[in-house]
Amino acid sequence: MIKINEHYLKLQASYLFSNIAKKVTDFQTANPDKEIIRLGIGDVTHALPQACTEAFHAAVDEMAVDSSFRGYGPEQGYDFLREAIAENDFQSRGADISADEIFVSDGAKCDTGNIQELFTLDAKIALPDPVYPVYLDTNVMAGRTGDFCDGRYEGIIYLNSTKENNFVPGLPTETPDLIYLCFPNNPTGSTITKAELQTWVEYAKENKALILFDAAYESFIRDEALPRSIYEVDGAREVAIEFRSFSKNAGFTGTRCAYTVVPKECTAFDAKGVKQLIHPLWNRRHCTKFNGVSYPVQRAAEAVYSEAGKIQTTNLVAGYLKNAALIAKEINTLGYDFVGGANSPYIWIEAKGDSWEFFDMLLNKTGVVCTPGAGFGKCGEGYIRLSAFNSYENVEQAMLRIKETLV
Ligand code: PLP
Repeated sequence: MIKINEHYLKLQASYLFSNIAKKVTDFQTANPDKEIIRLGIGDVTHALPQACTEAFHAAVDEMAVDSSFRGYGPEQGYDFLREAIAENDFQSRGADISADEIFVSDGAKCDTGNIQELFTLDAKIALPDPVYPVYLDTNVMAGRTGDFCDGRYEGIIYLNSTKENNFVPGLPTETPDLIYLCFPNNPTGSTITKAELQTWVEYAKENKALILFDAAYESFIRDEALPRSIYEVDGAREVAIEFRSFSKNAGFTGTRCAYTVVPKECTAFDAKGVKQLIHPLWNRRHCTKFNGVSYPVQRAAEAVYSEAGKIQTTNLVAGYLKNAALIAKEINTLGYDFVGGANSPYIWIEAKGDSWEFFDMLLNKTGVVCTPGAGFGKCGEGYIRLSAFNSYENVEQAMLRIKETLV
């Protein structure tokens, strides 16, 4: 008799985006003339940078000719891309990362979801609340949690991100083995300082723990004092794995390319307490279960690092940051407490009440769609997330409507 993995039955149905979609459809049916403005989702709205599409086209043409056709590539990614990443994203910022420590993939979602496979089922997991749900759900699927009770899974160490800690969680009282951190944060838009990150790195070292650092939004950082990579912090090479993505800096959400950095010094422990390198294990997993990102997509990603690509991606992100700054300015004028909106595409706003009620009020009175914070965890209750991923005109229009309604 074939039996299912019972841990899947513990998963909570994700009502967040399906609920939002239903409410938006109902509103649209009732108000066919009202134009809806979506500031809810985390998907980008602008086209790929021209440098990327040109490289993409050229690579497709290469695939069309026998003499330049390519079949399976290296699972870890082509050297041209791994070298460009190491040089531009790390070495140029003083972070000591080499090309062979980069694993190219088709998404930070898969990587942040898959990495937990390398660790024991009794590993104690710490993750933020509110949280990007992938970290939590993949550990539930693996069987590292108990049941879901009163809004939380038993056995997880939740790192509360609240107004009191400025949405940067402090060290937990219970000691974890695996620590998920995400900065700039989704959903709160908060950022972490180098000193705060240093504290986490030292904590991981002292407790023989490992940090999984999701830096999917690093390209939104404009404050030079903020770390863009955990490897800008001393000692991180031994205790941290970092996840990056081309989704938000270069509009690759539908094109799919990302990468994971596993430094050669990074270790975990075997049953006898002996240090084991993680790099060969992730390499083994990657090669066994993944056959590489397509050649044209990797060429398109490489173009992010060309002279034109750097200018175009900087401008792309600057456009979203301009939207974020406008949202933050207007929300501030309206007297709402918020975090984010600078160095991040997200603005996390205190709703002065229930997050779904605020969502309904905003939709019904203004036609603007936000994301209720409660969908990201217990600490998200009482908050909503606005996203800067839209055109400036739409954001201007949305904020005008919100201003008229909330004053
Ligand atoms: N990590 C965070 C924090 C995200 O918000 C997202 C997407 O929204 C991802 C990872 C997924 O990135 P990718 O598109 O590379 O799978």
